[in-house]
Amino acid sequence: MTSQSIPNKILKWYDNNKRTLPWRKKVSKSQKEYFTLVSEFMLQQTQVKTVIPYFENFTSKIPDLKSLSRVRDVKLMKCWEGLGYYSRARNLKKSAKLIISKFKGKLPSNEEGLKSLPGVGDYTSKAIMAIAFNNKIIPIDGNVERVLKRVFYLKKEKEISKENLHKKKSFFGETNRASDYAQAVMEIGALLCKPTKPNCDQCPISRYCKSYKKNDFEIVKINKFNKQKFFEANIFQNKRKNYYLLKNRKFNFLKGMPIFPMNEIPRVKFKNHIGKRINIKMSNMDMRIAITMKNNLPLNRNGFFVDVKDLSNLTLPSFTKKILNTIR
Ligand code: SF4
Repeated sequence: MTSQSIPNKILKWYDNNKRTLPWRKKVSKSQKEYFTLVSEFMLQQTQVKTVIPYFENFTSKIPDLKSLSRVRDVKLMKCWEGLGYYSRARNLKKSAKLIISKFKGKLPSNEEGLKSLPGVGDYTSKAIMAIAFNNKIIPIDGNVERVLKRVFYLKKEKEISKENLHKKKSFFGETNRASDYAQAVMEIGALLCKPTKPNCDQCPISRYCKSYKKNDFEIVKINKFNKQKFFEANIFQNKRKNYYLLKNRKFNFLKGMPIFPMNEIPRVKFKNHIGKRINIKMSNMDMRIAITMKNNLPLNRNGFFVDVKDLSNLTLPSFTKKILNTIR
């Protein structure tokens, strides 16, 4: 293989097969930077097809960095409602303010500047540098990781370590179309090298792929220990059937968002619970929640009642909505 053959093959496939995504629209340079920033924040923890309508609504209501830096929190949260992981929205606004005040309104183009923005970590900074600023970087998201594991048939723990994946990335080589190329490699993972049933017949790099040759596409993952925790959600309704909610100070996620009063319980209490039980998967734990209808308000009354018909005007996290849907 020549050093150019892989980028050329991948880019040719990408040009003919890429998805039309709203953040890939041809726009001005500053608008592309804004679109990349917003889409990369939204794509942290959320799939492309879920993000599309949120991105379109968000950028039509908050069209640029300046308006994002000045947007009222109520409007910001309304635009993010349902997307989850609300700290992303708060960090996005904080980042916009910092870009205006510290970087003269221009999104920084280097790793140090980008990582100084709240909510921008290693992956997001690399993705922005590649996509918005055409740096020759292939950020490793879940899709790229899968492609690498399959091309090189990586199965052992040492082989699938982050360090080794970064080394193996040199397989992709580089090209001057760096922005397209980073997206093209991710697109192969998303459209062809799917977790189950990869579409190898269409794949531009199948001739280099060991998994294809061995006809074994199983992916080995590093076992992340996801803690299981048990909670009781306490539902209080007054005579008018209004629900009692609290501003969340209990969990590190959903800070300040309305939740039902919750307390941690032992596994055995959850198992013996007679009422409804639900599971909610958070990034850091598996929550098992026993739902209890209560007659008395908690002693520590720092919450508020919400009329059922006003619930739709409140920005409720999916977490609270799931509990509400279960009891209604
Ligand atoms: S040939 Fe198949 S398994 Fe290999 S990278 Fe392409 S889609 Fe994935």
